[in-house]
Amino acid sequence: MKAPRFSYVRPASLTEALNLLAEKGPEARLLAGGQSLLAALAFRLSDPQVLIDISKLPELTGVTRVGDKIRIGAGTTHSALGRDALIASAVPLIAQAIPHIAHPAIRNRGTIGGSLAYADPAAELPACVVALEADLVARSKTGERRIKAADFFTGLFSTALEPGEILTALEVPVASASDRCALVEVARRSGDYAMAGVALKATLAGDRIIAIRPVFFGLGDAPVLAHGAAQALTGGPPTGERIAAAKAALATDLDPPGDQHGGPEMKRHLAGVVLERAIARMTNSEARAA
Ligand SMILES: Cc1cc2nc3c(=O)[nH]c(=O)nc-3n(C[C@H](O)[C@H](O)[C@H](O)COP(=O)(O)OP(=O)(O)OC[C@H]3O[C@@H](n4cnc5c(N)ncnc54)[C@H](O)[C@@H]3O)c2cc1C
Repeated sequence: MKAPRFSYVRPASLTEALNLLAEKGPEARLLAGGQSLLAALAFRLSDPQVLIDISKLPELTGVTRVGDKIRIGAGTTHSALGRDALIASAVPLIAQAIPHIAHPAIRNRGTIGGSLAYADPAAELPACVVALEADLVARSKTGERRIKAADFFTGLFSTALEPGEILTALEVPVASASDRCALVEVARRSGDYAMAGVALKATLAGDRIIAIRPVFFGLGDAPVLAHGAAQALTGGPPTGERIAAAKAALATDLDPPGDQHGGPEMKRHLAGVVLERAIARMTNSEARAA
């Protein structure tokens, strides 16, 4: 199917993009990598009058260290993140996520900001930013605000972004030597969206888990932080008993809807599988101090 007719504009600066977005209002859509939006247009799921192309804005790209945070421009592509040495050392969870996202051609154009703003519940990066307790930076004509990742995803394909706002960056705490992370998912084929997955970050003292954030994707309308499983795993080493208790807690932490992959029971089973694998991967991983 062909996309509906629309006009196209490529602003030269973030200020110009924000002005255009305010002027055009709900008739406009931002175009980043286009990897999700253009498919939505082709399926007539969206019918904007104008696309505002933000993919070339220099203000939106790049990875920099600012104090004890890593600032990632929203327009940074998945591929660029996958190649970035600072991401590999200071935000290894995101480095782990990138190879799971689609295929190289899509990763070359798709952006982290587009993935977060699109808020597909089966996507990896939304779960990562919740696990990492990132702040998301939104700009409008009237100013800038920071939104905690845990408050950003408000439901199926919906976020806390207000009309007129552009997601410009995210700020992620630098991993410390006592931090561990893992991302594990089950997908039908390499590059497909996950049937079920988990992104987790933990802080260890020796072999004891003193804090852990397991965030599931593909198992709800938005990323799900599994509080019960986290509680079961905290306070000691990840023994077989603790892992069994954490898997049991998923029965109340998760309420997965059935989808084309299977029913809720199968999804819950997969959640337990990916959690157990992620804990094994995390405990075997080396310290990644930046
Ligand atoms: C075949 C295929 C397989 C895929 N598999 C996966 C997968 O396994 N895992 C995964 O996570 N993703 C997957 N994707 C999606 C891919 O990661 C996209 O790149 C991503 O979802 C959207 O990024 P984008 O930059 O292309 O955004 P676009 O498609 O340009 O935009 C998506 C939406 O976000 C809005 N938007 C974009 N940037 C901003 C911003 N800075 N501020 C505010 N709003 C913004 C747009 O207006 C639009 O509504 C797949 C895509 C395809 C086509």
